[in-house]
Amino acid sequence: MIAIDKYDTSVPFVNTTNVSHLFKRKELVTMDMTPLKIGGDAVKRSNYWDEDTAHLPVSPPTGDRITGVLSADVLIVGAGFSGLSCAIHLLAEDPKAKVIIVERDHAGRGSSSRSAGMVEPGLLGITWTLEGAVESETDARWGFNAARRRLASLLGQLDERGIAAELIKCDNVISAQTSISSQVAQDLGKRMSDFGLETKWIDAADANTRFGTTGHGALVYEGHSVHPSLLAHSLREKALSMGAQLYEGDTVVELAEVTGKVVGKTKAGGAVMAGGCLIACGAWAGELGIKSRTAPEIVHTWMCATEKLPAEILAQAGSEQMALVAELSDSKNTSYRRVHNGRILYGNYDEPGHHVDAQVDEKMLKSLHDAAVKSMPYLKDVKIDFVWGGPILGMAHDLPFIEVYPNLPNTALVAPNGSTGVPWALLSGGMVGGIVRDDATGDAEGERLRNLLNETRMPWMTAGGMIGRAIWRSLEL
Ligand SMILES: Cc1cc2nc3c(=O)[nH]c(=O)nc-3n(C[C@H](O)[C@H](O)[C@H](O)COP(=O)(O)OP(=O)(O)OC[C@H]3O[C@@H](n4cnc5c(N)ncnc54)[C@H](O)[C@@H]3O)c2cc1C
Repeated sequence: MIAIDKYDTSVPFVNTTNVSHLFKRKELVTMDMTPLKIGGDAVKRSNYWDEDTAHLPVSPPTGDRITGVLSADVLIVGAGFSGLSCAIHLLAEDPKAKVIIVERDHAGRGSSSRSAGMVEPGLLGITWTLEGAVESETDARWGFNAARRRLASLLGQLDERGIAAELIKCDNVISAQTSISSQVAQDLGKRMSDFGLETKWIDAADANTRFGTTGHGALVYEGHSVHPSLLAHSLREKALSMGAQLYEGDTVVELAEVTGKVVGKTKAGGAVMAGGCLIACGAWAGELGIKSRTAPEIVHTWMCATEKLPAEILAQAGSEQMALVAELSDSKNTSYRRVHNGRILYGNYDEPGHHVDAQVDEKMLKSLHDAAVKSMPYLKDVKIDFVWGGPILGMAHDLPFIEVYPNLPNTALVAPNGSTGVPWALLSGGMVGGIVRDDATGDAEGERLRNLLNETRMPWMTAGGMIGRAIWRSLEL
């Protein structure tokens, strides 16, 4: 049994920076942590990726807690891909900038290093892309391609900047489990092709031979994958080597404005006073009292890594095993998978409504596993070696927030949405520099892209759109 603190989440999000009420303990709950059994064997509850990078040397952080008052040009709250990429961007632009990152745990320990490492080139949410939510077709086409171009350039620079990530070019496969999702995927393919991204629809037999899918066919287009823990590790090392000050093990509990500066108070009783701030605490943003135009939903996504599998089983997962495969069906059974070092790694989402720090839940894992076995029957008797997961922001509009945070001076908010969070978190660094540092070089393309994202919440966020989404979910199409 372990005990975890449960905080009072009944307090509605309010547009305020005073968050002390959120940190009042409501009750202490206990959870049964007996070893989980899926497929007959006990599994480790730990991030597979982290074990894979455990041997790498780790530079010490600048400190583990802040007790006095520190001053900085920019305070970054959270050291995931978003926070680290921003620090690197700022320091590349001005090596003398004083950038302080406060991370409540260890860099990457949020969702970044736990992710599946799929780097989607489609980037803009399916609903956005399909529905043409942007009023102007020219803007939609431009936004789609600007995001792709920036991503390609950023990935191209990883090597050049000495950032190891195990970057692999591979097929991105959306397998359709139902006839309706087959129509959705084909429409999506047409729209993306029209925007200039080469896509191909393959029939069920071809999809089964190439990718081991069991549905109605699949949409295939080029994507990338990374080793998320390696990338988090490398970004952390890079940021430290460039002079970022990283405090790991302290939490920013309150953000306020004092005489034109942003002051971040920390749990250890210290504070950082900065000219600008990036709020990059991912799914934990609500804990800080941060609210944007639509309150993001907390969704948990869990992943499993099988034992090392023999070639005959791996072959059933498809002959092109580098592929990143997502099964498109209803919201409860949209599983995803990739193969890494002879193991199949797969995951699935639960339903919104959780507390951000909710723990692994046996019932949820069973339903995840059952859904995965439906589309990957060969998983039925294999042993699962690792189970891990974490909270993500499942936003109804499928778009990230990368925007000016109005309540504090020179402050930006980055909240990448779940399934395309890795690329957006990486891209965000270059898109917020001009906000958090008044004097930073403007990035006209980044600004335009940011504004376009933030102006195009419709039509999914209308009352009609929300009802449509609820019906879609309840019908389990
Ligand atoms: C299991 C899983 C699989 C995923 N798979 C994919 C995928 O294949 N492709 C994809 O594109 N996306 C995927 N995602 C989503 C993606 O990982 C995230 O959207 C992205 O990494 C978010 O990066 P971030 O830096 O914004 O947030 P995070 O990586 O969550 O970083 C936020 C950091 O802030 C810290 N923090 C929080 N509150 C505070 C505070 N008050 N003070 C100080 N520090 C704080 C946290 O500890 C954390 O380290 C997945 C997520 C999960 C959990």
